[in-house]
Amino acid sequence: MAEKSYDVVVVGSGPGGYVAAIRASQLGLKAAVVERSEIGGICLNWGCIPTKALLRSAEIYHNIERAEEFGLKVEGLSFDGTKIVERSRAVAGQLSQGVQFLLKKNKVDVIVGNGSLSGKGKIKVEADGKATEISAKNIILATGARARTLPGLEPDGDTIWSYREAMVPKSIPKSVLVIGSGAIGIEFASFYKTFGADVTVVELLDRVLPVEDEEISAFAAKSFKKQGMNLLTGAKVTDLKKSKTGVTATIDIGGKTETLKAEKVISAVGITGNIEDIGLEKAGVKTDRGHVTVNEWCETSVPNVYAIGDLVGPPWLAHKASHEGVMVAERIAGVKTVHPMDASKIPGCTYCHPQVASVGMTEAAAKDAGHDVKVGRFPFIGNGKAIALGEAEGLIKTVFDAKTGELLGAHMVGAEVTELIQGYTIARQLETTEADLMATVFPHPTLSEMMHESVLDAFGRALHI
Ligand SMILES: Cc1cc2nc3c(=O)[nH]c(=O)nc-3n(C[C@H](O)[C@H](O)[C@H](O)COP(=O)(O)OP(=O)(O)OC[C@H]3O[C@@H](n4cnc5c(N)ncnc54)[C@H](O)[C@@H]3O)c2cc1C
Repeated sequence: MAEKSYDVVVVGSGPGGYVAAIRASQLGLKAAVVERSEIGGICLNWGCIPTKALLRSAEIYHNIERAEEFGLKVEGLSFDGTKIVERSRAVAGQLSQGVQFLLKKNKVDVIVGNGSLSGKGKIKVEADGKATEISAKNIILATGARARTLPGLEPDGDTIWSYREAMVPKSIPKSVLVIGSGAIGIEFASFYKTFGADVTVVELLDRVLPVEDEEISAFAAKSFKKQGMNLLTGAKVTDLKKSKTGVTATIDIGGKTETLKAEKVISAVGITGNIEDIGLEKAGVKTDRGHVTVNEWCETSVPNVYAIGDLVGPPWLAHKASHEGVMVAERIAGVKTVHPMDASKIPGCTYCHPQVASVGMTEAAAKDAGHDVKVGRFPFIGNGKAIALGEAEGLIKTVFDAKTGELLGAHMVGAEVTELIQGYTIARQLETTEADLMATVFPHPTLSEMMHESVLDAFGRALHI
C-alpha cells in the first residue's frame, strides 16, 4: 500500500527537477521531489554555479594583474587557493539552500532518498537501508548525468580529476593536462591558467570548443594561445602513467606520438546519463546510448513517465533542463499554450577568458542546411565601451538567411558575451528578421551596440568599421 500519493513526483532535484516540481505546484498539482544527494543537483552544487564562482575569482585576479593599465597601484598581489574554493562552496551552499526554501514556499514535498520506478505509478524511495513506496499519477525522471570516462583514463580523484575534484583543488597545480575542449574542459583550463598553472588542452577534433562556429573557436584558440595555453588539436591521449609527481601522458597528434608530463589531469570528455538503478528496464522505459529516449514532449516509451534534462541527452545545459521541466509540468496540467523545445533557440555559454556564447546555427551548419547566407561581423576593437573597459579583444558574428532575413545564428567571443547573447536569443524566439534588428535602438556606450553593428554589417551597412 503506497504511503503517499501525488499528481507529480519528480526524481532528481537539479534545475530540471526542482523547476518542474515548482511549476507543477504553481499549477495546482500536488508535487514532490525525490533527491538522494544535494538539492539543486549538479548545476548548483558541482556545475554551473561553483565554477562561475571560481572563474569570478580568476577574472578579478586577472583584472588586478592589469591594474597599472588603469592607473591603479597594487602591490604584493597573491591569492589563497583555499579561500577561493571556500567561497565557491559557500556560493553553492547558499543557492542550494535557496532552492530548498523555494520548494517549501511552493509546497513541494522533498523526499530524501534514492528513487526508482517500482510499478505503474509507483516509486520506491530508499534511504538509510529502508524502502518506502509513493504513488504518482505522473512521474518525471530528472536524474541528470555524470562525467563520462574513457578506458585507461578513469579519474582516480587524486592525479586524474573529473570536474568534481577539479572544482575543489587543495592547491593550484604547477601543470594541468585537460582532456577535452568542450565548455567544461575550457573553463577549467582558463581557471588554472589564470592562477599560473602550465595548461595543455588535448582535443580529439580539429579545433577547441568544437560545437562553436569555426571562426569563433579559431578566435578563442588564438587568445588562449596568447595567454600561454598549449592547445593540441586532432590529438588523443592514448596512455597515462602515474608517478609520485603526477602523470606522463602519451599523446597521439595526427599519427605522431609525444609524451607530456603534468601534475594533474582533468578528464572532461563529456557526460553520460544517470540511467542505472532507476527501474527503467523493468518499467519498459527505452534508452539509447546512455540516455532515456523521449519525444519532443519529453514523453518516454511508458505513458505518464516523462524524462528531462541531462538524462535525455544534449545539449547538457541547465536552462534546457529547466525549460523542459516547465514544459512537462504544463503539459501534465493541461496548459494549452505549451510548445515543444526548439534546440535552435537554446543559447550556449562558456565562461572562459575571453567568454564565448552562441545561439542557433553556425555559418557552416546554415550552409549545410541549404541556406543562402549573409554573414555580419563586428570586432570589439570598433566599440567605444569595449575600449573604455580595456576589453578590445572579441568578435560578434551573425548569420542570416539571405532571402528571408531570418536571424539563423549568432556567435560571440569577448567580454560579457554570456550576458549579451540573450538579446539574440529573444530575437530568435520572436522570429525577428534583420529589419527589426536594424530598426532597434541600442544604448550608447554599451557592448550591445556591437550586436547592432554585426547585423548592419551582414547587409553592408556597418557604421563603425
Ligand atoms: C563543471 C560543470 C559546469 C557546468 N556549467 C554549466 C553552465 O555554466 N551552464 C549550464 O547551463 N550548464 C552547465 N553545466 C551543466 C549543468 O550542470 C547540467 O546541464 C544541469 O545540472 C542538468 O540538470 P538536470 O536537472 O538534468 O540534472 P542534475 O543537475 O544532474 O540533477 C540531477 C539530480 O538527480 C539526483 N538523482 C540522480 N539519481 C537519483 C535517484 N535515483 N534518486 C534521487 N535522486 C537522484 C542527483 O543527486 C542530482 O541532484 C555544467 C556542468 C558541469 C559538470
